[in-house]
Amino acid sequence: MADPIIISTWSFGKRSHDAVWPALIDGASSLDTVEKVCRIAEDDPAIDSVGYGGRPDREGRMTLDGCIMLQPRQCGAVACVRRHRHPVSIARQVMERTDHVMLVGPLADDFADACDMPAEPMLSPEAKAAFDARARGAAGPPPAPMDNPSGALFPDEEPWRNHDTIGTLCIDQRGTLAGACSTSGMAWKVPGRVGDSPIIGHGLYVRPGVGAATGTGTGELVMGECGAFLAVERMALGDTPTEACVAVVQRIVDAGPLEPHETVAMIALAADGTWGSASIRPGYRTSIKSLTQDDARTAHRVLLDS
Ligand code: ASP
Repeated sequence: MADPIIISTWSFGKRSHDAVWPALIDGASSLDTVEKVCRIAEDDPAIDSVGYGGRPDREGRMTLDGCIMLQPRQCGAVACVRRHRHPVSIARQVMERTDHVMLVGPLADDFADACDMPAEPMLSPEAKAAFDARARGAAGPPPAPMDNPSGALFPDEEPWRNHDTIGTLCIDQRGTLAGACSTSGMAWKVPGRVGDSPIIGHGLYVRPGVGAATGTGTGELVMGECGAFLAVERMALGDTPTEACVAVVQRIVDAGPLEPHETVAMIALAADGTWGSASIRPGYRTSIKSLTQDDARTAHRVLLDS
């Protein structure tokens, strides 16, 4: 029997961990666990970058992305969902009920209808107020990259305004790895924009016997390096989880200058239960829950000073 463990991006993952832990140590599957971790975040109006609390695109329309993965032949994803609050659950249905990996846009919503998933209000009052303020010009200059509480539990955590994701990785008592990811993407994005989070190999990757990886931050940077796939491949070649995460963020830094608001953090969980993280900038935390750890801790390696 394996020791169960869950790791998730950001301290807001901790609230989900506390909720799912009793079931996980009671034998729940890693797949059920990662779906539930994301669903809790998707319902939380205090998290302004995932699900109901997320910020809309520049036209004021909310679009959500998510994916879930057990292994390369068992994964599902949706992007630009507009009527259903739980993209992670639609992604799971895509994985389990179709021969496909990814559905997008209104047709992904239609698929969710066909799976009897309820359409729900998508824009929280806070998100609507933020959009209206921005439309009136009351939002002022573009925000500093790290000044938004965004559900953070720790004063030193500085979620990167305009985008964050819940990415979660789990090993259950049977030793099965699973991962999932859910986001509203970048606030005020160009309508139709999809980032790394729902793209298998970019925002999430799971290879049984090796490990899993996910991340948060500027999706476009992660997509240029196939971030999650690269991290897992590095572990397959012998890197520790932290070394694998550092390899990804270092490549992004080496690829060219970054705008002040651009950053990425990666987390990885090896099949043996060891885990690691790396961030380009400070102000990021990983939530971790296991038999011996219950914390939201700063990245194992941070590449830049600010
Ligand atoms: N990676 C997500 C995206 O680009 C957002 C984030 O994690 O900050 O859509």
